[in-house]
Amino acid sequence: MNAMTETNNFTSEDERMLLDAIDSWVEKSVKPIAKEYDHEDKYPHALVEEMKELGLFGATIGQQYGGLGLPASVYAKIVTRVSSVWMAPTGIFNSHLIMAAAIERAGTEEQKKKYLPRMASGELRGGLGLTEPDCGTDLQAIRTVAKKDGDHYVVNGNKIWITNSGNGGGILLLVKTDPTAEPRHKGMSMLIAEKGDGFIVSNKMKKLGYRSIDSCELAFQDYRVHESCLLGGVEGKGFQHAVGGLELGRINIAARGAGIAEGATRLAVRYAQERKTFGKPICEHQAIQLKLGEMATQVEAAKLLVESAARAYDSGQRCDMEAGMAKYFASEAGVFCASEAMRIFGGASYSVEYEIERYYRDAMLMCIGEGTNEMQRIIIAKQLVARNAV
Ligand SMILES: Cc1cc2nc3c(=O)[nH]c(=O)nc-3n(C[C@H](O)[C@H](O)[C@H](O)COP(=O)(O)OP(=O)(O)OC[C@H]3O[C@@H](n4cnc5c(N)ncnc54)[C@H](O)[C@@H]3O)c2cc1C
Repeated sequence: MNAMTETNNFTSEDERMLLDAIDSWVEKSVKPIAKEYDHEDKYPHALVEEMKELGLFGATIGQQYGGLGLPASVYAKIVTRVSSVWMAPTGIFNSHLIMAAAIERAGTEEQKKKYLPRMASGELRGGLGLTEPDCGTDLQAIRTVAKKDGDHYVVNGNKIWITNSGNGGGILLLVKTDPTAEPRHKGMSMLIAEKGDGFIVSNKMKKLGYRSIDSCELAFQDYRVHESCLLGGVEGKGFQHAVGGLELGRINIAARGAGIAEGATRLAVRYAQERKTFGKPICEHQAIQLKLGEMATQVEAAKLLVESAARAYDSGQRCDMEAGMAKYFASEAGVFCASEAMRIFGGASYSVEYEIERYYRDAMLMCIGEGTNEMQRIIIAKQLVARNAV
C-alpha cells in the first residue's frame, strides 16, 4: 500500500464535500482571474493563500505529517476540476506534492519530520529540479555536480524549466555525486535544496502557455547544502528516487489533460448553441455534431483511464503501464478537444477575448512533461511485452 492510503479513512461523503468545496473555490476565485492572469503572466499570490486554507499543499501528504492524506484517485479529481477551468494553478501544488511524495517515500524519518509539516501547510513550497539545458529525457546525462566538503555538499551546475522555483522556497535537486560512475545512474543523488547563497534563480522563462506559473532557469554556484539534506541519507539512489515518483506524476499530468479536454468541450458545447449560421445554431449542423460527439467520448475515456490508473496506484499495484496509458491518452485528448473547440469557435477562437485559445496553448505541455508521449508509448510497449512474455 502507498503511504497515502495507509493514513486516511476517506469516505465517499468526505470526497463529495471536498470536491464541492473545490468546485466553489474554482467558481469564486479561479475562474474570474484566469484570463487576466494568464495574459499578463502574473503569479496568483492570493490563490496561493487560498490553496493553503483548502489544504491543497498537503493534499497527498500523510495525516501524521499534517496533510490530508488523500488517495491519488480523489486527488486526481481535484486536479481535473481545477484544470477544466484553468490548468496552470494546479502546477503550484502538483509539482510541490511530487517533491513531498518523494520525501515521504524515500526520506529518512528525520527528513520527513523536518520538511513534510512545513510543506503540508504551504509554508515551504517546492518542486522538482531534474531537467538541464542539455538533457530532459536522458536524465542520466545531467552535469550538475555535488562534491563533498566536510559535512556539506558543494553544488555547481544549471537547471532549466523548474516549476515553482521562483516563488517557492526550495526544490528536490537531482545531482551527480559521482560523475564518473558506471552505470551512470549509480552516481546520481537527490538533495533537498532550500534557497540560500549560491542557489540563483537566473531567469523566469517566457512560455507559450502554462503562464502565471514560475518556470525558471537556475544556476548553482558553490551552493552549500548540509549532508543531512541528502534524500534517504544514501548516495547513488537519486535516479531511482526520480523515476519512483513518475507513476504519481503521470497520473497528475493525465488528470490535467482530462481537465483541459473537459473544459474545452464544455466551452465548445455552449458556443455551438449560441452561434447561429444559416438560420440555426451550429450545434444542429452535422459537421459540428461529429466533433462534439468525438470530443465528449474522449473526455469520458480520459477520465476513466485516469481513475483506473489512480486506483491501481492507491492499491499499491505496479502501475507504470496504466499511468503511462492514462498520461498518453488524456494529454492527447486535451490537445484534440482544445483544437477541435478552436475550429468550432471559428474566427472567435483566434481572439484573446475568448478563453478557448488558452486551453489550446496549455494543452500541448501535457504531451511533454513527466516523460514525453513518445516515451510513454515505448514504456507501455515494454511493459506489455514483459507482462505477456512467451
Ligand atoms: C513548462 C514546462 C515546465 C517544466 N517543469 C519542469 C520541472 O518542474 N522540473 C523539471 O525537472 N523539468 C521540467 N520541465 C522539463 C520537461 O520535463 C522536459 O522538457 C521533458 O522531460 C523533455 O525533455 P527535453 O525538453 O530535454 O526534450 P528531449 O529529451 O531533448 O527530447 C526531444 C524529443 O526527442 C524525443 N526523444 C528523446 N529521447 C528519445 C528516445 N530514447 N526514444 C524516442 N524519442 C526520444 C522526445 O520524445 C522529444 O520528442 C518542464 C518543461 C516545460 C516546457
